[in-house]
Amino acid sequence: MALAEIFHPNNSDAEELADTQTPSTCTFLDSQEIQTPKQAWGKLYPTIIRLKTVDLIERQFFLGRSKECDVSLTSDNFNPNCLKTISKTHFLITHDENDETVYITDLSKNGTFINETQIGRGKKTILQNDDEIAVGGKKVKVYIYKPVGKSEDTYLPTELRREYEVSKKLGEGGCGEVRLLFRKNDCKEFAVKRILKSKTESGKSLNSLTRIHNEIAILKTVSHPNILSTIKTAETDEAVFMVLEYMNGGSLQERIRFSEKLPERIAKLIFYQILIGVQYLHLRGITHRDLKPENILLKTDNEETLVKIADFGLSKLIVNSTVMTTTCGTPNFLAPEIIDNRYQKYTQEVDIWSLGVILFYMLSGQLPFQSDSLHYLFRLILSGEYSMDETLWCLISNDAKDLVKHMLVVDPEKRIKISDILSHPWITNDSSIKRNAEDLINLHVDKDDPPNEDGLPEAKRARLD
Ligand code: AMP
Repeated sequence: MALAEIFHPNNSDAEELADTQTPSTCTFLDSQEIQTPKQAWGKLYPTIIRLKTVDLIERQFFLGRSKECDVSLTSDNFNPNCLKTISKTHFLITHDENDETVYITDLSKNGTFINETQIGRGKKTILQNDDEIAVGGKKVKVYIYKPVGKSEDTYLPTELRREYEVSKKLGEGGCGEVRLLFRKNDCKEFAVKRILKSKTESGKSLNSLTRIHNEIAILKTVSHPNILSTIKTAETDEAVFMVLEYMNGGSLQERIRFSEKLPERIAKLIFYQILIGVQYLHLRGITHRDLKPENILLKTDNEETLVKIADFGLSKLIVNSTVMTTTCGTPNFLAPEIIDNRYQKYTQEVDIWSLGVILFYMLSGQLPFQSDSLHYLFRLILSGEYSMDETLWCLISNDAKDLVKHMLVVDPEKRIKISDILSHPWITNDSSIKRNAEDLINLHVDKDDPPNEDGLPEAKRARLD
Protein backbone atom coordinates (compact mmCIF):
# COMPACT_ATOMS: atom_id res chain seq x y z
CA MET A 1 0.00 0.00 0.00
CA ALA A 2 1.37 3.43 -0.93
CA LEU A 3 2.06 5.59 2.05
CA ALA A 4 0.52 8.55 0.29
CA GLU A 5 -2.79 6.82 0.71
CA ILE A 6 -2.62 7.03 4.44
CA PHE A 7 -0.34 9.97 5.04
CA HIS A 8 -0.82 13.28 3.32
CA PRO A 9 2.58 14.94 2.81
CA ASN A 10 1.15 18.42 3.33
CA ASN A 11 0.22 17.55 6.86
CA SER A 12 3.28 18.78 8.70
CA ASP A 13 1.77 18.15 12.10
CA ALA A 14 0.06 14.96 13.05
CA GLU A 15 -2.07 16.94 15.52
CA GLU A 16 -3.51 18.65 12.49
CA LEU A 17 -4.33 15.48 10.61
CA ALA A 18 -7.53 15.96 8.76
CA ASP A 19 -10.50 13.78 9.55
CA THR A 20 -9.79 11.87 6.36
CA GLN A 21 -7.01 10.16 8.29
CA THR A 22 -9.44 8.46 10.61
CA PRO A 23 -10.56 4.87 10.12
CA SER A 24 -14.12 5.66 9.14
CA THR A 25 -13.22 8.03 6.32
CA CYS A 26 -9.87 6.92 4.90
CA THR A 27 -10.24 6.39 1.18
CA PHE A 28 -8.45 3.04 1.22
CA LEU A 29 -10.97 1.54 3.58
CA ASP A 30 -13.35 -0.67 1.78
CA SER A 31 -16.34 -1.35 3.98
CA GLN A 32 -16.98 -4.70 2.33
CA GLU A 33 -13.41 -5.82 2.95
CA ILE A 34 -13.70 -4.84 6.59
CA GLN A 35 -16.58 -7.18 7.15
CA THR A 36 -14.99 -10.24 5.56
CA PRO A 37 -12.21 -11.34 7.97
CA LYS A 38 -13.64 -13.47 10.73
CA GLN A 39 -10.70 -14.76 12.64
CA ALA A 40 -8.11 -12.66 14.42
CA TRP A 41 -4.76 -12.62 12.64
CA GLY A 42 -3.00 -10.99 15.57
CA LYS A 43 -3.33 -9.78 19.14
CA LEU A 44 -2.16 -6.72 20.99
CA TYR A 45 -1.43 -7.45 24.64
CA PRO A 46 -1.53 -4.32 26.77
CA THR A 47 1.39 -3.28 28.92
CA ILE A 48 -0.80 -0.66 30.58
CA ILE A 49 -3.29 -1.96 33.08
CA ARG A 50 -6.28 0.06 31.82
CA LEU A 51 -5.99 -1.00 28.21
CA LYS A 52 -7.64 -4.22 27.07
CA THR A 53 -6.32 -6.98 24.84
CA VAL A 54 -7.10 -6.26 21.19
CA ASP A 55 -8.03 -8.97 18.72
CA LEU A 56 -6.79 -7.79 15.35
CA ILE A 57 -9.48 -8.96 12.95
CA GLU A 58 -9.96 -6.18 10.40
CA ARG A 59 -7.37 -5.37 7.78
CA GLN A 60 -6.50 -2.11 9.50
CA PHE A 61 -6.22 -1.02 13.07
CA PHE A 62 -5.81 2.59 14.18
CA LEU A 63 -4.74 3.95 17.54
CA GLY A 64 -4.79 7.59 18.56
CA ARG A 65 -6.63 10.24 20.52
CA SER A 66 -9.46 10.41 18.03
CA LYS A 67 -12.70 8.68 19.00
CA GLU A 68 -12.79 7.29 15.49
CA CYS A 69 -9.75 5.11 16.16
CA ASP A 70 -10.18 1.44 17.00
CA VAL A 71 -8.44 2.17 20.27
CA SER A 72 -8.83 5.72 21.43
CA LEU A 73 -6.41 6.84 24.15
CA THR A 74 -8.09 9.02 26.75
CA SER A 75 -7.34 10.14 30.29
CA ASP A 76 -9.44 7.16 31.42
CA ASN A 77 -7.15 4.54 29.93
CA PHE A 78 -3.83 6.38 29.55
CA ASN A 79 -1.54 8.57 31.65
CA PRO A 80 -3.07 12.09 31.28
CA ASN A 81 0.42 13.66 31.36
CA CYS A 82 1.46 11.61 28.33
CA LEU A 83 -1.80 12.15 26.45
CA LYS A 84 -0.63 15.43 24.94
CA THR A 85 2.14 13.57 23.12
CA ILE A 86 -0.41 11.37 21.35
CA SER A 87 -1.64 12.35 17.91
CA LYS A 88 -5.25 12.10 16.87
CA THR A 89 -4.28 9.19 14.66
CA HIS A 90 -1.03 7.95 16.05
CA PHE A 91 -0.33 4.71 14.25
CA LEU A 92 -1.89 2.27 11.88
CA ILE A 93 -1.41 -1.48 11.75
CA THR A 94 -2.19 -3.18 8.43
CA HIS A 95 -2.47 -6.83 7.57
CA ASP A 96 -1.58 -7.92 4.06
CA GLU A 97 -3.78 -10.94 3.47
CA ASN A 98 -1.77 -12.11 0.49
CA ASP A 99 1.54 -12.67 2.16
CA GLU A 100 0.38 -12.43 5.79
CA THR A 101 2.76 -9.55 6.41
CA VAL A 102 1.82 -7.08 9.12
CA TYR A 103 2.96 -3.45 8.93
CA ILE A 104 2.84 -0.64 11.40
CA THR A 105 2.84 2.92 10.08
CA ASP A 106 3.81 5.88 12.22
CA LEU A 107 1.38 8.74 11.65
CA SER A 108 2.34 10.72 14.72
CA LYS A 109 4.13 13.91 15.57
CA ASN A 110 5.98 12.54 18.62
CA GLY A 111 6.75 9.12 17.33
CA THR A 112 5.72 5.49 17.37
CA PHE A 113 8.43 3.17 18.61
CA ILE A 114 9.02 -0.52 18.02
CA ASN A 115 11.28 -2.05 20.65
CA GLU A 116 12.38 1.48 21.58
CA THR A 117 13.34 2.42 17.99
CA GLN A 118 11.37 5.20 16.35
CA ILE A 119 9.70 4.23 13.08
CA GLY A 120 9.68 7.77 11.71
CA ARG A 121 6.72 9.84 10.76
CA GLY A 122 5.04 8.63 7.61
CA LYS A 123 7.20 5.51 7.53
CA LYS A 124 6.19 1.92 8.07
CA THR A 125 7.92 -1.16 9.34
CA ILE A 126 7.07 -4.84 9.58
CA LEU A 127 5.51 -5.81 12.89
CA GLN A 128 6.77 -9.07 14.31
CA ASN A 129 6.05 -11.46 17.12
CA ASP A 130 6.73 -9.90 20.55
CA ASP A 131 7.40 -6.40 19.19
CA GLU A 132 6.78 -3.78 21.85
CA ILE A 133 4.87 -0.74 20.65
CA ALA A 134 5.41 2.58 22.41
CA VAL A 135 3.79 5.92 21.65
CA GLY A 136 5.00 9.49 22.15
CA GLY A 137 8.26 8.31 23.77
CA LYS A 138 10.28 5.12 23.48
CA LYS A 139 9.52 4.08 27.06
CA VAL A 140 5.77 4.73 26.85
CA LYS A 141 4.89 1.17 25.93
CA VAL A 142 1.28 0.35 25.22
CA TYR A 143 1.13 -3.06 23.58
CA ILE A 144 3.05 -6.18 22.69
CA TYR A 145 2.10 -7.63 19.32
CA LYS A 146 1.64 -11.34 18.77
CA PRO A 147 0.50 -12.97 15.55
CA VAL A 148 -2.24 -15.55 15.95
CA GLY A 149 -1.48 -19.06 14.80
CA LYS A 150 2.18 -18.30 14.18
CA SER A 151 3.39 -17.80 17.71
CA GLU A 152 5.73 -20.23 19.38
CA ASP A 153 2.88 -22.61 20.07
CA THR A 154 5.18 -25.38 21.10
CA TYR A 155 7.35 -23.43 23.51
CA LEU A 156 5.18 -24.17 26.54
CA PRO A 157 3.99 -27.62 27.63
CA THR A 158 0.30 -28.19 26.96
CA GLU A 159 -0.81 -27.67 30.56
CA LEU A 160 0.73 -24.17 30.58
CA ARG A 161 -0.24 -23.34 26.99
CA ARG A 162 -3.92 -23.66 27.90
CA GLU A 163 -3.55 -20.91 30.45
CA TYR A 164 -0.70 -18.72 29.21
CA GLU A 165 0.66 -17.07 26.08
CA VAL A 166 4.44 -16.86 25.88
CA SER A 167 6.09 -13.63 24.78
CA LYS A 168 9.50 -11.93 24.57
CA LYS A 169 12.73 -13.04 26.23
CA LEU A 170 13.42 -11.25 29.51
CA GLY A 171 16.85 -12.59 30.29
CA GLU A 172 19.14 -15.54 30.62
CA GLY A 173 20.65 -17.01 33.75
CA GLY A 174 23.03 -19.84 34.53
CA CYS A 175 20.17 -22.34 34.35
CA GLY A 176 18.12 -21.22 31.38
CA GLU A 177 16.16 -18.48 29.72
CA VAL A 178 13.36 -16.37 31.14
CA ARG A 179 10.42 -15.17 29.05
CA LEU A 180 7.42 -12.97 29.56
CA LEU A 181 4.05 -14.72 29.84
CA PHE A 182 0.51 -13.43 29.60
CA ARG A 183 -2.26 -15.24 31.46
CA LYS A 184 -4.96 -15.64 28.86
CA ASN A 185 -8.02 -14.92 30.97
CA ASP A 186 -6.90 -11.54 32.30
CA CYS A 187 -3.67 -10.69 30.40
CA LYS A 188 -1.76 -10.46 33.67
CA GLU A 189 1.99 -10.66 33.17
CA PHE A 190 4.17 -13.46 34.55
CA ALA A 191 7.63 -14.74 33.80
CA VAL A 192 8.49 -18.28 32.80
CA LYS A 193 11.88 -19.79 33.41
CA ARG A 194 12.71 -22.69 31.12
CA ILE A 195 15.49 -24.94 32.29
CA LEU A 196 16.70 -27.52 29.79
CA LYS A 197 17.44 -30.81 31.45
CA SER A 198 20.99 -31.99 31.10
CA LYS A 199 21.64 -35.38 29.57
CA THR A 200 23.94 -36.60 32.33
CA GLU A 201 23.11 -36.92 35.96
CA SER A 202 26.67 -36.23 37.05
CA GLY A 203 25.61 -33.20 39.03
CA LYS A 204 28.35 -31.18 37.39
CA SER A 205 26.18 -29.35 34.93
CA LEU A 206 24.37 -26.28 36.24
CA ASN A 207 21.06 -27.70 35.17
CA SER A 208 21.28 -31.25 36.38
CA LEU A 209 17.94 -32.80 37.24
CA THR A 210 18.79 -32.97 40.90
CA ARG A 211 19.58 -29.29 40.94
CA ILE A 212 16.40 -28.38 39.09
CA HIS A 213 14.23 -30.41 41.41
CA ASN A 214 16.12 -28.94 44.32
CA GLU A 215 15.28 -25.44 43.14
CA ILE A 216 11.63 -26.32 42.67
CA ALA A 217 11.37 -28.02 46.04
CA ILE A 218 12.81 -24.98 47.78
CA LEU A 219 10.71 -22.50 45.87
CA LYS A 220 7.56 -24.35 46.84
CA THR A 221 8.30 -24.12 50.52
CA VAL A 222 8.91 -20.37 50.65
CA SER A 223 6.34 -17.64 50.94
CA HIS A 224 7.54 -14.14 51.70
CA PRO A 225 6.99 -10.74 50.07
CA ASN A 226 10.73 -10.33 49.46
CA ILE A 227 11.16 -13.75 47.86
CA LEU A 228 10.09 -14.32 44.27
CA SER A 229 6.91 -16.41 44.08
CA THR A 230 6.65 -19.50 41.96
CA ILE A 231 3.10 -19.76 40.70
CA LYS A 232 3.30 -23.09 38.88
CA THR A 233 5.75 -25.61 37.58
CA ALA A 234 5.51 -28.01 34.67
CA GLU A 235 7.87 -30.52 33.16
CA THR A 236 8.47 -32.11 29.76
CA ASP A 237 11.10 -34.66 28.77
CA GLU A 238 13.43 -31.84 27.75
CA ALA A 239 12.76 -29.04 30.18
CA VAL A 240 11.30 -27.79 33.41
CA PHE A 241 9.13 -24.67 33.32
CA MET A 242 8.61 -22.39 36.28
CA VAL A 243 5.91 -19.73 36.13
CA LEU A 244 7.13 -16.87 38.29
CA GLU A 245 5.68 -13.58 39.34
CA TYR A 246 6.78 -10.89 36.91
CA MET A 247 9.30 -8.30 38.05
CA ASN A 248 8.97 -5.36 35.73
CA GLY A 249 11.98 -3.40 37.00
CA GLY A 250 14.72 -5.83 35.91
CA SER A 251 17.56 -6.88 38.15
CA LEU A 252 19.59 -4.95 40.71
CA GLN A 253 22.61 -5.52 38.47
CA GLU A 254 20.95 -3.57 35.65
CA ARG A 255 19.88 -0.83 38.07
CA ILE A 256 23.41 -0.36 39.47
CA ARG A 257 24.99 -0.49 36.02
CA PHE A 258 22.51 2.09 34.77
CA SER A 259 22.96 4.58 37.58
CA GLU A 260 26.61 3.65 38.38
CA LYS A 261 25.86 3.60 42.08
CA LEU A 262 22.77 4.08 44.20
CA PRO A 263 21.98 6.95 46.56
CA GLU A 264 22.62 5.73 50.12
CA ARG A 265 18.93 6.08 51.08
CA ILE A 266 17.84 3.88 48.15
CA ALA A 267 20.65 1.38 48.76
CA LYS A 268 19.42 1.08 52.35
CA LEU A 269 15.79 0.51 51.32
CA ILE A 270 16.83 -2.20 48.85
CA PHE A 271 19.35 -3.75 51.25
CA TYR A 272 16.81 -3.86 54.09
CA GLN A 273 14.37 -5.80 51.91
CA ILE A 274 17.06 -8.27 50.83
CA LEU A 275 18.03 -8.71 54.48
CA ILE A 276 14.47 -9.48 55.48
CA GLY A 277 14.21 -12.04 52.68
CA VAL A 278 17.51 -13.68 53.62
CA GLN A 279 16.57 -13.73 57.30
CA TYR A 280 13.37 -15.54 56.36
CA LEU A 281 15.34 -18.12 54.37
CA HIS A 282 17.92 -18.64 57.09
CA LEU A 283 15.24 -19.14 59.73
CA ARG A 284 13.95 -21.99 57.57
CA GLY A 285 17.34 -23.58 57.22
CA ILE A 286 17.79 -22.40 53.64
CA THR A 287 21.04 -20.85 52.49
CA HIS A 288 20.82 -19.09 49.17
CA ARG A 289 24.54 -19.47 48.30
CA ASP A 290 24.27 -17.47 45.09
CA LEU A 291 23.30 -14.01 46.28
CA LYS A 292 24.36 -11.45 43.68
CA PRO A 293 22.73 -8.43 42.04
CA GLU A 294 21.49 -10.51 39.05
CA ASN A 295 19.41 -12.54 41.49
CA ILE A 296 17.79 -9.54 43.12
CA LEU A 297 14.77 -8.48 41.06
CA LEU A 298 12.92 -5.17 41.20
CA LYS A 299 9.17 -4.88 40.90
CA THR A 300 9.12 -1.52 39.07
CA ASP A 301 11.38 1.07 37.45
CA ASN A 302 10.68 3.47 40.32
CA GLU A 303 13.61 4.51 42.49
CA GLU A 304 11.77 3.18 45.56
CA THR A 305 10.60 -0.27 44.62
CA LEU A 306 9.73 -3.68 46.01
CA VAL A 307 12.68 -6.06 45.85
CA LYS A 308 12.63 -9.86 45.66
CA ILE A 309 15.28 -12.51 45.89
CA ALA A 310 15.28 -14.97 43.00
CA ASP A 311 17.13 -17.99 41.71
CA PHE A 312 17.67 -20.68 44.24
CA GLY A 313 19.39 -22.72 41.56
CA LEU A 314 22.51 -23.19 43.61
CA SER A 315 21.06 -23.35 47.05
CA LYS A 316 20.26 -26.42 49.01
CA LEU A 317 18.01 -27.13 51.90
CA ILE A 318 20.05 -27.65 55.01
CA VAL A 319 18.48 -28.90 58.15
CA ASN A 320 19.98 -28.01 61.52
CA SER A 321 23.55 -29.20 61.63
CA THR A 322 23.72 -30.34 58.01
CA VAL A 323 26.36 -28.32 56.26
CA MET A 324 26.95 -27.53 52.68
CA THR A 325 30.10 -28.72 51.07
CA THR A 326 29.35 -28.17 47.41
CA THR A 327 31.44 -25.45 45.82
CA CYS A 328 29.19 -23.18 43.83
CA GLY A 329 28.35 -19.53 43.33
CA THR A 330 29.55 -16.56 41.31
CA PRO A 331 33.21 -15.59 41.80
CA ASN A 332 33.02 -11.93 42.85
CA PHE A 333 30.41 -12.59 45.49
CA LEU A 334 31.84 -15.87 46.79
CA ALA A 335 32.72 -16.11 50.46
CA PRO A 336 36.35 -17.06 51.31
CA GLU A 337 35.31 -20.29 53.03
CA ILE A 338 33.77 -21.54 49.78
CA ILE A 339 37.05 -20.96 47.92
CA ASP A 340 39.37 -22.17 50.66
CA ASN A 341 39.25 -25.94 50.79
CA ARG A 342 40.84 -25.92 54.22
CA TYR A 343 37.34 -25.10 55.40
CA GLN A 344 35.65 -28.47 55.28
CA LYS A 345 32.22 -26.97 55.62
CA TYR A 346 30.41 -23.74 55.28
CA THR A 347 27.06 -22.43 56.51
CA GLN A 348 24.64 -19.55 56.20
CA GLU A 349 27.45 -17.09 56.89
CA VAL A 350 28.34 -17.36 53.19
CA ASP A 351 25.21 -15.33 52.42
CA ILE A 352 26.30 -12.58 54.85
CA TRP A 353 29.58 -12.21 52.95
CA SER A 354 27.71 -11.99 49.62
CA LEU A 355 25.39 -9.39 51.16
CA GLY A 356 28.47 -7.40 52.19
CA VAL A 357 29.77 -7.47 48.61
CA ILE A 358 26.33 -6.42 47.32
CA LEU A 359 26.15 -3.52 49.80
CA PHE A 360 29.67 -2.39 48.86
CA TYR A 361 28.68 -2.53 45.18
CA MET A 362 25.40 -0.62 45.66
CA LEU A 363 27.06 2.18 47.62
CA SER A 364 30.16 2.66 45.47
CA GLY A 365 29.32 1.12 42.08
CA GLN A 366 32.53 -0.93 42.44
CA LEU A 367 33.27 -4.46 43.54
CA PRO A 368 35.51 -4.89 46.58
CA PHE A 369 37.28 -7.87 45.00
CA GLN A 370 37.82 -7.60 41.30
CA SER A 371 40.30 -9.14 38.88
CA ASP A 372 40.25 -10.57 35.37
CA SER A 373 42.29 -13.48 36.68
CA LEU A 374 40.23 -15.96 38.66
CA HIS A 375 43.35 -17.04 40.53
CA TYR A 376 44.12 -13.48 41.62
CA LEU A 377 40.46 -12.78 42.41
CA PHE A 378 40.41 -15.76 44.77
CA ARG A 379 43.61 -14.55 46.40
CA LEU A 380 42.01 -11.15 46.99
CA ILE A 381 38.89 -12.71 48.49
CA LEU A 382 40.89 -15.05 50.71
CA SER A 383 42.98 -12.15 52.00
CA GLY A 384 39.79 -10.16 52.66
CA GLU A 385 41.71 -7.04 51.66
CA TYR A 386 39.81 -4.34 49.86
CA SER A 387 39.91 -0.57 49.77
CA MET A 388 37.24 2.07 49.89
CA ASP A 389 38.26 4.63 47.28
CA GLU A 390 37.91 8.00 49.04
CA THR A 391 36.48 9.69 45.93
CA LEU A 392 33.64 7.15 45.85
CA TRP A 393 33.12 6.73 49.57
CA CYS A 394 33.59 10.29 50.92
CA LEU A 395 29.87 11.02 50.92
CA ILE A 396 28.85 7.65 52.38
CA SER A 397 27.98 7.59 56.09
CA ASN A 398 30.36 6.06 58.62
CA ASP A 399 27.60 3.70 59.75
CA ALA A 400 27.33 2.24 56.24
CA LYS A 401 31.10 1.78 56.02
CA ASP A 402 31.15 0.18 59.46
CA LEU A 403 28.47 -2.32 58.48
CA VAL A 404 30.32 -3.29 55.28
CA LYS A 405 33.49 -3.85 57.32
CA HIS A 406 31.67 -6.16 59.73
CA MET A 407 30.24 -8.21 56.88
CA LEU A 408 33.43 -8.62 54.86
CA VAL A 409 35.23 -10.51 57.62
CA VAL A 410 37.15 -13.54 56.35
CA ASP A 411 36.56 -15.72 59.42
CA PRO A 412 32.89 -16.78 59.18
CA GLU A 413 32.67 -17.15 62.94
CA LYS A 414 33.69 -13.54 63.46
CA ARG A 415 31.44 -12.25 60.67
CA ILE A 416 28.40 -10.25 61.79
CA LYS A 417 25.18 -12.26 62.21
CA ILE A 418 21.99 -11.34 60.38
CA SER A 419 20.20 -10.34 63.59
CA ASP A 420 23.08 -7.97 64.39
CA ILE A 421 22.90 -6.46 60.91
CA LEU A 422 19.22 -5.73 61.49
CA SER A 423 20.06 -3.99 64.74
CA HIS A 424 23.09 -2.15 63.33
CA PRO A 425 22.81 1.67 63.61
CA TRP A 426 22.86 2.06 59.82
CA ILE A 427 19.53 0.21 59.72
CA THR A 428 17.96 1.25 63.03
CA ASN A 429 18.84 4.97 62.82
CA ASP A 430 16.41 5.38 59.97
CA SER A 431 12.94 4.56 61.26
CA SER A 432 11.33 5.20 57.88
CA ILE A 433 13.02 2.24 56.21
CA LYS A 434 10.82 -0.48 57.69
CA ARG A 435 7.67 1.58 57.04
CA ASN A 436 8.74 2.27 53.44
CA ALA A 437 9.41 -1.41 52.83
CA GLU A 438 6.00 -2.39 54.23
CA ASP A 439 4.29 0.27 52.11
CA LEU A 440 5.97 -1.15 49.02
CA ILE A 441 4.69 -4.62 49.88
CA ASN A 442 1.15 -3.38 50.43
CA LEU A 443 1.26 -1.48 47.16
CA HIS A 444 1.81 -4.70 45.28
CA VAL A 445 -0.57 -7.00 47.11
CA ASP A 446 -3.06 -8.10 44.52
CA LYS A 447 -6.15 -9.21 46.42
CA ASP A 448 -7.68 -10.82 43.36
CA ASP A 449 -4.77 -13.14 42.79
CA PRO A 450 -5.63 -16.80 43.05
CA PRO A 451 -3.51 -18.96 45.29
CA ASN A 452 -0.60 -20.77 43.71
CA GLU A 453 -0.63 -24.51 43.25
CA ASP A 454 0.31 -25.09 46.86
CA GLY A 455 -2.54 -22.93 48.07
CA LEU A 456 -0.27 -20.03 49.01
CA PRO A 457 -1.44 -16.58 47.99
CA GLU A 458 0.55 -15.39 45.00
CA ALA A 459 1.27 -11.97 46.48
CA LYS A 460 1.92 -12.66 50.10
CA ARG A 461 0.53 -10.48 52.78
CA ALA A 462 3.32 -11.15 55.23
CA ARG A 463 4.58 -8.23 57.24
CA LEU A 464 8.23 -7.64 57.89
CA ASP A 465 8.26 -8.91 61.45
P1 AMP B 1 17.84 -16.00 36.37
O1 AMP B 1 17.89 -17.21 35.53
O2 AMP B 1 16.84 -16.10 37.49
O3 AMP B 1 19.20 -15.52 36.82
O4 AMP B 1 17.26 -14.82 35.41
C1 AMP B 1 17.99 -14.26 34.35
C2 AMP B 1 17.44 -12.87 34.04
O5 AMP B 1 16.08 -12.96 33.61
C3 AMP B 1 17.43 -11.93 35.25
O6 AMP B 1 18.64 -11.25 35.42
C4 AMP B 1 16.29 -10.98 34.88
O7 AMP B 1 16.76 -9.96 34.00
C5 AMP B 1 15.32 -11.87 34.12
N1 AMP B 1 14.30 -12.40 35.02
C6 AMP B 1 14.38 -13.53 35.77
N2 AMP B 1 13.25 -13.73 36.46
C7 AMP B 1 12.43 -12.71 36.16
C8 AMP B 1 11.10 -12.34 36.59
N3 AMP B 1 10.43 -13.09 37.47
N4 AMP B 1 10.56 -11.21 36.09
C9 AMP B 1 11.26 -10.46 35.21
N5 AMP B 1 12.50 -10.74 34.77
C10 AMP B 1 13.09 -11.85 35.24
